[in-house]
Amino acid sequence: MVSVTGNLFILSAPSGAGKSSLIKALLEQNNSSRAMQVSVSHTTRDARPGEENGVHYHFVSVDEFKAQIEQGAFYEHAEVFGNFYGTSEAAIDAQLAQGIDVFLDIDWQGAQQVRAKKPEVTTIFICPPSKQELENRLRGRGQDSDEVIAARMAKAQAECSHYHEFDYIIINDDFQQALSELNTIVNSKRLTQSQQAAQHQKLLADLVS
Ligand code: GDP
Ligand code: ADP
Ligand code: 5GP
Repeated sequence: MVSVTGNLFILSAPSGAGKSSLIKALLEQNNSSRAMQVSVSHTTRDARPGEENGVHYHFVSVDEFKAQIEQGAFYEHAEVFGNFYGTSEAAIDAQLAQGIDVFLDIDWQGAQQVRAKKPEVTTIFICPPSKQELENRLRGRGQDSDEVIAARMAKAQAECSHYHEFDYIIINDDFQQALSELNTIVNSKRLTQSQQAAQHQKLLADLVS
């Protein structure tokens, strides 16, 4: 039986590089016995068409967000594109304690804060294949105004300059290949000696007796 705690993963990337699409596809195709969940962040930005409160984000007011900071409710929080974003500590800890692998889609500032609190976290940086393709994807997603897209493109360079702080880099050119690489990283964490020893205690005890 699984008695291990879950693995914590962070995916960061410039906006539009494909983090959300990759995490969604990974969770949809997960066919192992281990559960995976994506952390639902709190944000003060407005919901986009099709985004649901509690599913994509917990959409809160600036006052509510600040009150939660005061209460120490966040593992990490950051201001990104003029909005606040934060990861709830209680929610993540509860998922990990149940043996669930948790994915955080957070920016580099949040990644630094989580890494300082949880050095065992696995961090992955997603790159677009080019600046032009990044812009094409932001436009193709069709959810942000020209002004927002320009701001996100301007921020992309700063976000990318943090790539060296991450354990792994995936270039999201061909989506299926990027997904397969993400799967490889996740599976390799699950196959470490400590995780396998915890999961297969009985078998290993039997094999050495
Ligand atoms: P996306 O870039 O298209 O995925 O746009 P989002 O609005 O979903 O995310 C905006 C930025 O906020 C991205 O850089 C995310 O990585 C970051 N972000 C999302 N959730 C969190 C969080 O809980 N904490 C932190 N620190 N950053 C977050
Ligand atoms: P992020 O969460 O990093 O902002 P998204 O997952 O929303 O990025 O992806 C941005 C857009 O690019 C979406 O419209 C998505 O369908 C598209 N996209 C993602 N990966 C690829 C890829 N490898 N090739 C082409 N389009 C992609
Ligand atoms: P968007 O507004 O497009 O949903 O997200 C913009 C950026 O905010 C993305 O790069 C996303 O990863 C980041 N982001 C989303 N949630 C959080 C969070 O909880 N914490 C941090 N630090 N960044 C977040």
